[in-house]
Order: sequence, then structure tokens, then C-alpha cells
Amino acid sequence: MKVFKFGGASVKDAEGVKNLSSIVRGQHGQLIVVVSAMGKTTNLLETLCNAYFHRDSKTVAIMEELKNFHLDIVNSLFPLNAPVYKNLDELFTSLGNILNTESSLCYDYEYDRIISFGELISTTIISHYLRLKDIDNLFIDIRKYLKTDQNYRNGNIDLELSGQLCEEAFDFKNTTIYVTQGFIAGTRTNQTTTLGREGSDYTAALLANLLNAEDVTIWKDVPGVMNADPKEYDKAQVISKMSYKEAIELSHFGAKVIHPKTIKPIQNKQIPLYVKSFLHPESSGTIIEEIDEHLKLPPIYINKGNQCLLTLTPRDFSFIAEEKLSHIFAILARYKLKLNLMQNSAISFSFCIDCNTAIFNEFLQQLQEEFEVRYNQDVKLITIRHYTEEAIREIIGDRPSLVEQRSRTTAQFVLRNHMSEPIHSRS
Ligand code: ADP
Ligand code: ASP
Ligand code: MG
Repeated sequence: MKVFKFGGASVKDAEGVKNLSSIVRGQHGQLIVVVSAMGKTTNLLETLCNAYFHRDSKTVAIMEELKNFHLDIVNSLFPLNAPVYKNLDELFTSLGNILNTESSLCYDYEYDRIISFGELISTTIISHYLRLKDIDNLFIDIRKYLKTDQNYRNGNIDLELSGQLCEEAFDFKNTTIYVTQGFIAGTRTNQTTTLGREGSDYTAALLANLLNAEDVTIWKDVPGVMNADPKEYDKAQVISKMSYKEAIELSHFGAKVIHPKTIKPIQNKQIPLYVKSFLHPESSGTIIEEIDEHLKLPPIYINKGNQCLLTLTPRDFSFIAEEKLSHIFAILARYKLKLNLMQNSAISFSFCIDCNTAIFNEFLQQLQEEFEVRYNQDVKLITIRHYTEEAIREIIGDRPSLVEQRSRTTAQFVLRNHMSEPIHSRS
């Protein structure tokens, strides 16, 4: 059995749905098709959720936009009397019912209930379209089988329970193809949860792990994993083969092409992961698997924007020792902030985190109880894996870096986005 995952870009319009169906038709044998919300639907649903939560009348207009976007696609794919319309109507009615009731005041819970409609709508359309084209398949509501705790917006999977339930659900007795949603899941008591933005890759990897798939293919708008984001670097080249270790490092450093949680489930079962272009399905793309030999890779560039660099200095001039560090880490963990780079000296500790303006001031206040804090909010973190001096010269040039760090394989630079950006000092 194989797992195919199609992201939002691959099904952003009617042509995308037709293309998906021709890729699926070309596949023989058992297949699970995991699909994300169409195009930028998840962003639109986030706006809808915020409007609902803040009792903003814009919900009506956003609902219209959501319906029109999907109905435009459906109208150009199906005849007028097709059964897809009834199923979509039921979904829009359920979403409308949520919007017409008082919110529970738990934002993350409401977020998951609303956001999940993106994937429910896309998979409904795709399952019907495949059937229209005589590609027999069964639709699965993954929320019944992929079980998480109640950590809304970032559910933690119960692997054992999900394994049992998925084995029963995906038994391939009455079909060779299942169509299901990425990114969404459910609690034991059937509340909807999600796995974190861009989490559909992770769903594909989880299903592959739980059901012992032969391989996983994620279909992208790029020809594979490249040595830079081709939208930012016009000389980017496809890397044809890469180890799990390299892939997990790249996604950790911020290469957006694969969700960071994707690699562990497939590595644990030694399942190969293909990253391929949905525009050129015949091209080989990238294969990620266990590679013993030390594969020579070109320099790989990762640009992680929206970073904040902070430098802490203990007010009493005491050393940055283990106790102080563990206190800093505890504060970071409390605010769910991920460290993207760190460096310390005798009496200073500098680190880079993703900017989260919603909690930044409160976080800063906590730190200021003990430390003098200097920070710079408009910075980016450039990582060069397998760096050479020439690669550093090409990418960084003579721009001054705020922090620089090199290990044997990785060089990292924190640069200002705008050279005029001042460093704030709060004491
Ligand atoms: P999906 O449609 O699955 O949601 P994404 O948009 O999340 O796909 O990921 C694909 C995008 O990742 C590409 O369009 C590309 O701009 C970006 N990207 C960033 N880094 C890389 C890289 N190293 N190789 C290929 N693509 C990259
Ligand atoms: N639709 C979700 C998102 O946009 C999940 C995904 O696309 O992977 O975040
Ligand atoms: Mg995505």
C-alpha cells in the first residue's frame, strides 16, 4: 500500500483536481490519498474563526467567499445534478450552525472545529470527482480514527489507539483507494482537533507508519527538495537523494517544503518518502530514505524570517550557568517558544525565537525580573548546511551579522531585515 499526499497548491482550482485524478489513475494497487484544504482555504477559515470569536458581522461575507470559491471549482467539474452538491450543502450547513451559536470561549477548541472544514470540503469534492471519473474510492472521515489528546491546535497522537482504529478502517476489503483528510484528527470523545499548520504531510507519514505503507509521496509545486526555496534563489537545484537525518535537519532549520514532524514516523518504519512535482509527475523528484554512505550534498540555504533575537544579561553580574539556563528554558517552555539558535558567554545568553507578538510583552516582562534584556524583533536566520566559504560569500556577502555560528556542517547567521532597524534595550 502507498500513501499520496496532495497539498493546498495541488488542488487550488478545477485543473488541480483533474490533475490529481490523472495522477491517481496512473497508480495501480492499494492507495491512501491524503488531501489538504484547497488553495488558501485554511487562511480564509482562520479569518472566519477570528470574526466568529470576536462576534464580528464579517462572518457572513467570509462564508460567502468560502462557498463561492468551492462552488466555482465544483461547477466546472460536475454536472448540475451530481450528488457532491448535497454533501457540500450539509458541510456548509454544519459550519453555518457553528457560526450561529454562541462560542464556548475556548479559542483553540473553536479554531479546530471551524478550520477542519477546509479539509472536509476538499476531500468530499475529490472523492466525488474520482468516482465521477470511474476511479472507485471510499471517503474516510479521519477524525474517527486518528486520535489525539485535547491539545487543540496541536494535538498529540495516541499511536496505539489510532493504530488499532486505522487498521480496521483502512482494511482495503471493498476498495483499493481511500480518500481522507490531512491535518485534522479527533479526540476519544470525537471533538475535532488539528495537528498544527501545514500538518497534512505529518498525517500522511502517520498513516504510513500505522499501516506499514511501502512508501509515501508528497506532491508539491516544486520538482523536489531543492538546495534553497526556488522562490527566493533562482539557482536552486533539486537534490535527488537525501537521508532522513538530512531531511529532519532541513525542516527543523525552517525549509518549508516538508513539515518537521513528517520524518520521524517514516524513519521509525524505514519507509521511503518521495517529494515530487504534481506538474511533472513523471520526473523522479527527491527520495528520502536511510542512506549509509556519507552522501556529498551541495550547500543548502534556508531563510527563516520573522525571528526575534534576544540577549539576556543577569542584573547581578552572575554567570550564565546551568541554573540560570534551566530557568530561561522553563520560561521558554511555558510560552511554547522554540529556540532556533543560542549562544552564551560568561554573563550573556543570546537566542533566536519565532516572533509571536501576542505573547511577546508578557514573555519579556518575565525575563526582565532577573535579566537586562536587549532585543531585535525584525531579524532573519539564515542557515547554510554543508557550507563552503564561497557559499557564505555568495549568500551573506559583506552584510554584518548580529550573531554567527558554525559547526562542522552548518553555518548560521542572524541578519537584520532592514539595516536601519534599531536594537531595543529594556532594563
Ligand atoms: P503544500 O502544497 O504541500 O502545502 P508548501 O507550499 O507547504 O506545499 O511547500 C512547497 C513550497 O515550499 C514551495 O512552493 C517552495 O516555495 C517552498 N520551499 C521552501 N524551501 C524549499 C526547498 N528547499 N525545496 C523546495 N521547496 C521549498
Ligand atoms: N490546510 C492546512 C494548512 O494550510 C494543512 C496543510 O495544508 O498541510 O495549514
Ligand atoms: Mg502547505
